[in-house]
Amino acid sequence: MTPSPHNLPSTLSEANGANTPPWQRRRLLQAGLAAGSAAWLAGCGSIIGQARPQVVVVGGGWGGLGAVRALAAQPGIDIALVEPNERFMSCPMSGHYVATVGKLEDLLHGYERVDALPGVKRIRDRVQAIERDRREVALASGQRLRYDYLVLSPGIEYMEESLPGFAAAREALPVGFRAFEHPAVRAQVERFLGQGGTFVMSAPKPPYRCPPAPYERAMLIAEQVKRRGVRGKIVFLDANAAPTPAPTAQPILGALKAYADIIDYRSNVELQAVDAGQRTLQTSEGALRFDHANLVLPMRAHPLIRQSGLGQRWAEVELPTFQAKADGRIFVIGDAQGSPQPKSGQVAFGQGRAVGEEIARRLRGEAAPATQGEIDLPLGICWAATSHDEAINVNVVTTFKPGEAPKLRFTVDPQPSARSGSAAWSWARGIWRTMLG
Ligand SMILES: Cc1cc2nc3c(=O)[nH]c(=O)nc-3n(C[C@H](O)[C@H](O)[C@H](O)COP(=O)(O)OP(=O)(O)OC[C@H]3O[C@@H](n4cnc5c(N)ncnc54)[C@H](O)[C@@H]3O)c2cc1C
Repeated sequence: MTPSPHNLPSTLSEANGANTPPWQRRRLLQAGLAAGSAAWLAGCGSIIGQARPQVVVVGGGWGGLGAVRALAAQPGIDIALVEPNERFMSCPMSGHYVATVGKLEDLLHGYERVDALPGVKRIRDRVQAIERDRREVALASGQRLRYDYLVLSPGIEYMEESLPGFAAAREALPVGFRAFEHPAVRAQVERFLGQGGTFVMSAPKPPYRCPPAPYERAMLIAEQVKRRGVRGKIVFLDANAAPTPAPTAQPILGALKAYADIIDYRSNVELQAVDAGQRTLQTSEGALRFDHANLVLPMRAHPLIRQSGLGQRWAEVELPTFQAKADGRIFVIGDAQGSPQPKSGQVAFGQGRAVGEEIARRLRGEAAPATQGEIDLPLGICWAATSHDEAINVNVVTTFKPGEAPKLRFTVDPQPSARSGSAAWSWARGIWRTMLG
């Protein structure tokens, strides 16, 4: 069979035909990867007209950067990173900025050093569609990119339809759980700290991005209310019985006590409708008037996942590879995929690295390593700041045994400490350097 231009081989060995002896296929593959030239394709006639394997990575956030880093560490792969923003902005540590004490520059980082990595081409654009049968992605600019493998790490979208009235008031009610939305939430907080009144905040039912983050944000804002003597209160509506995930509940509830005069924490409250004009919220506990609001909506994967038939709320993936169940050429990582791993940046970056290495292994034509017993999935490290100086550290180890559900083991600080407060910044600066430095 002669593969069509859109039916690219996943490895050189595949391109070279099943009858080629494995040792020879392997040598050809290595030659192709190392040479990075069309020479190894000469015997393949019209196969692809491209010398090097093409990997397209969608999203220059935490997961995408992990994949790009791992792929660039292998010789001979062309990596196209598609990301609409000119710079990276971190959600981790954004709570300090939103609460008006941190600087935006702390969260912003350039992609220059990623651009300098071997084989990497960053394309400032937005993927509009994935044409799986052609192995192409269509960009908003009209450009099309072919791929041998596609890595998707496009993050999340808010389930706006879950709260009637929200879509019409989107601009007035920024959620701020995606990069570049933080300044709009900070503007809300500045108004609240200036005018006082009732600030309604909320946490949805999981799974959602960084479960401790809504509580963190409330405490950091409450600290400023206290410090500045603002005549205001925060009504925190939690859709859950207690802060999530469960191992963090007691430490977070304990930390909330320090703000009991400012934060009115209410559990098991569902949001039912919002009227931003009238500043009223319908909830399962009745109507509530507010002056300012930061409502964290339920979340699901970025729409590309559903549009491409890779899953409904979240992408369905195989473990431990994060290969899409629906398509062996696509890997989905980060918050868009539906494994039980926590939706955290550290986890997304680790998944990206693992997927980059997995793709490189497949391109080298090597067999999957034999697995015995439990496999470690990428580690989770999360921080819930309880004040500008203190935080609760949450670490999550995930192990997986084929045929069984992954097991998550949490280690959580029993109470906030200044040690974890400064360790959070060390962690953030370290991982930003690893990703972007
Ligand atoms: C307030 C807050 C605090 C947090 N704190 C922590 C913490 O302490 N520790 C931790 O580990 N995690 C934390 N997180 C979670 C972390 O930010 C996410 O888990 C992480 O960003 C997920 O990575 P991702 O690659 O899936 O998505 P993202 O990092 O969101 O990256 C998605 C990228 O895709 C791009 N994109 C979107 N659409 C397209 C398109 N059509 N075409 C091309 N590109 C596109 C976006 O521009 C974005 O750059 C926190 C999150 C929040 C909101």
